[in-house]
Amino acid sequence: MKQPHIHVPQPEPDESLHSLLIAAFRFSGHANFRDFTELIFRRPSDGRGWSWRYKSIGYYLDPCRKTGLAILQGTLQLPYLVPFTDPEVARQGENRLDGETRTDPVALRSAWKANNGRPLNYCPICVALHVRRIGRSLWLRSHQLHHVNVCWRHAVRLIRVQQRFGSPLLPHEFENQKAEYCFNKSDIWWAQQARELLLANHGPSLAEHRREVYRNRAMRLGYVKSGRIDAWAIASDLEKRFDRALFERVCGSFNRERLAGIVHRVVSGQESGIQPSNHILCIDALFGEQNLFFQQLRNVQSGQKSEGQPLSGVSGRQDRSALVHREIFMRELGEKGRDVMRHLDDQFPLTHSWILQNALAWSRRKIAQLGSHSPERVSILRTAALGKRFEETVNRNSRIGVLSAIGSESYPVVIPIYGGDTSEHGFYGLADGLISS
Ligand SMILES: [Zn+2]
Repeated sequence: MKQPHIHVPQPEPDESLHSLLIAAFRFSGHANFRDFTELIFRRPSDGRGWSWRYKSIGYYLDPCRKTGLAILQGTLQLPYLVPFTDPEVARQGENRLDGETRTDPVALRSAWKANNGRPLNYCPICVALHVRRIGRSLWLRSHQLHHVNVCWRHAVRLIRVQQRFGSPLLPHEFENQKAEYCFNKSDIWWAQQARELLLANHGPSLAEHRREVYRNRAMRLGYVKSGRIDAWAIASDLEKRFDRALFERVCGSFNRERLAGIVHRVVSGQESGIQPSNHILCIDALFGEQNLFFQQLRNVQSGQKSEGQPLSGVSGRQDRSALVHREIFMRELGEKGRDVMRHLDDQFPLTHSWILQNALAWSRRKIAQLGSHSPERVSILRTAALGKRFEETVNRNSRIGVLSAIGSESYPVVIPIYGGDTSEHGFYGLADGLISS
């Protein structure tokens, strides 16, 4: 089973199977990449597309450290898909990794096709760091996830290239290594969310359990109209949170009907195929964080209720939906300042009413804190301090001028810009104290 003259290095964190195979090919000194992979898997495979006997790679790695499946979970994009896959389909998928080719679940296969065989992405800063640290660059899994176009770690635009099957390259061997920083919050957020989902290794779940968790949450947040989940309202709130370009990437083309349709299918468990991207959007809209969603999913899987009774009183402190509303409040506070509540009333009515009912004192405290160190106030105080000092200097100089007119020569006027013990420092000290308290 195990072929001689094949040396596979231990995978680096987040390294893809594709990357590991290229490294193994180079280390082992074989002449042909296709033949090399055929020796391992009994079929040519570059470790990206749907393949057979992927677990065979386990024979070449330290068996005491990891099983074949654990290696594959760490080097494939499988953990990104599994959380939204029925247990039976996930089991069949796992069998296929082991060489089982009889079962052919259409959904899993289509998802695999979507996630593999596409151009590859790399971050030039990650490339430089890896070359310096281990002497080779890596194709990282988290850079290859759907719709990810930014490095989650460096906020650098990923460079997209086409890989050749027969003679694959490592990222540092491509000519373009220019780092272009990204300032788009939506893109950076997406890269981080996709990576979080990939690394969390959540187990498979039934569509009916996911539906229960989504529905209970939506009802608890008040997204209900005529007794039904109001997908339109969820889509409407979601739309305000991210760039249009992100929706266009994730949803194909973008309009609210389309987004509402996606939300409806996810929340009602009627999705076709496995589409983690749609879940990432809906989880953010309803839970604000992935952990909360999966925690409730585990509760439902173990027979517990996902959340308390819907609509019967939004409870306040214990209500984790607070996370979503507080997050919206804080973000809008940063943008709108003291007008935040008027703005929320206009743009985020659900959050506005939630804050009024549950966190009015908290919101007032946040607004007050903002007022004490807002940029406008800093600027006003700084200008006032400079003006005062200018006035003092002019007064002093005029007194000196009077003296010099009596005596001999005049003195140059010196206006201190940033003095030592000024009121500015006093102000910043105060602001620091407020921020830390
Ligand atoms: Zn990077």
